[in-house]
Amino acid sequence: MADRSEVELRAQALETLLIQKGLLTEAGIDDRIALFNERVGPMNGARVVARAWVDAEFKSALLRDATSAIAPYGFVGGQVDKLVVVENTPEVHNVVVCTLCSCYPWAVMGLPPKWYKDPAYRSRVVREPRKVLAEFGLNVPPEREVRVWDSSAEVRYMVLPLMPERLAGVDEDTRIAAIQRDTLIGVAEVQ
Ligand code: FE
Repeated sequence: MADRSEVELRAQALETLLIQKGLLTEAGIDDRIALFNERVGPMNGARVVARAWVDAEFKSALLRDATSAIAPYGFVGGQVDKLVVVENTPEVHNVVVCTLCSCYPWAVMGLPPKWYKDPAYRSRVVREPRKVLAEFGLNVPPEREVRVWDSSAEVRYMVLPLMPERLAGVDEDTRIAAIQRDTLIGVAEVQ
């Protein structure tokens, strides 16, 4: 217990107090954690992308109105009331940020990584996106445009990454497995 951080201790104190006051139950908290561990995460966004790569009709519906296009999946987790999917092309690379705080489409991407909430990422990716992307290991050639999308409480973005040639013709599970969270934020390409 001695090595628990201040934040952990504060969270534990809050949890204890909320349970004592009858506002939360232990089972309720466990359910919530299980939900985010098992059902909410970038695997949902990966399913959407893997389908859009091979289903032109779904892809155009997704780019037109992502919230409606993903509705049949019944993803839980929220934060996709106005989801916008932006498509990477050989000419354009997209990257997502929330300059104000950490808005992020939970239902398709889970909880944001720590660096997404970092003031350094939030301010720098707007001012010097190519440099920040290079620090993530992604070098975008000068002739390829970089577009930065600022998420907000109203609109949240997900990137539709480019499908690498090697994934043409492979089965859906293989495509899904190749799509990592960072490619949906736009700080990486699908390898
Ligand atoms: Fe935000």
